[in-house]
Amino acid sequence: MNTPIERLQTALETLGLKAVEARLENLLEQASKKEPSYADFLDELLNCEVEARRTRYMKAKLQLAHLPFVKNFEQFDFHFQPSLDERQIRELRSLRFIHEASNVIFLGPPGVGKTHLSVALAGSGLGAYFITAHDLATDLGRAYREGRLDRRMRIYLAPKVLVIDEVGYLPLDDLGTTIFFQLVSARYERGSIILTSNKSYGDWGSIFGDSIIATAILDRLLHHSTTINIRGESYRLKDRRKAGLVPPRGQEGAEAAVRSLASGSVAPKTRQKTALGSTPSEAKEAHS
Ligand code: ADP
Ligand code: MG
Repeated sequence: MNTPIERLQTALETLGLKAVEARLENLLEQASKKEPSYADFLDELLNCEVEARRTRYMKAKLQLAHLPFVKNFEQFDFHFQPSLDERQIRELRSLRFIHEASNVIFLGPPGVGKTHLSVALAGSGLGAYFITAHDLATDLGRAYREGRLDRRMRIYLAPKVLVIDEVGYLPLDDLGTTIFFQLVSARYERGSIILTSNKSYGDWGSIFGDSIIATAILDRLLHHSTTINIRGESYRLKDRRKAGLVPPRGQEGAEAAVRSLASGSVAPKTRQKTALGSTPSEAKEAHS
């Protein structure tokens, strides 16, 4: 004859309540000490399973999203980036932009938190998928050559939020540009894109090798969108600065030294008008 504990374990296994099964002896021991009410005991028991399932679900969702790291808003130091408008970030955190299939574009030099904020938004709720612009173009370019572009495109059309990171670090070839345009058009007013770029909109012609197609891409991307232009310095340099490897802020020549240390860093562009029309803030005013 089995003991009650053994029978319980069998029942929990049959029901698939793995978290309770793993903690059964512990839960029973605690209950015999604390003597909770029947309701409280049942509540604790079932909550243990609910919590474990929620954690598993979040983990699976994050894995599916292909996020490069897990970062949230609590880990972001807004004091370090005073150019960020906290009200604007609060609005984004409501995730209304996802329900409205509107886009979010983070612009700024390397290390200012563009990817961090994108990941925090993407990890906040609904289904997301993360990819760099370069990997996206490579993947869809291969699919095109193998005659399965439409099928492959669905991977990037299905998620409610598609994060396209690092647009502009590497220029796209003609095929990459055409595919990028197709993707942005296909998601237009259907699903959100969160995009990061080190280049201001006026310089997008050089990413796509053609200012006409760059304008067409921007037209769709910016119609319903929020642009967050981060003008601060690289967070990655913070610790190096503390260690005295970089001159303190405000010292003459410090900025140049900081930039030269930032890998691949580009000095923020001065505001300039180009054929594409606008600096990020002007474009936002025009399009939002
Ligand atoms: P970017 O995409 O703009 O190049 P990242 O988002 O990759 O920069 O940021 C570089 C690193 O610095 C990441 O580890 C990120 O979490 C961290 N980081 C950047 N800005 C902040 C910030 N304001 N507070 C906390 N961590 C930050
Ligand atoms: Mg980044």
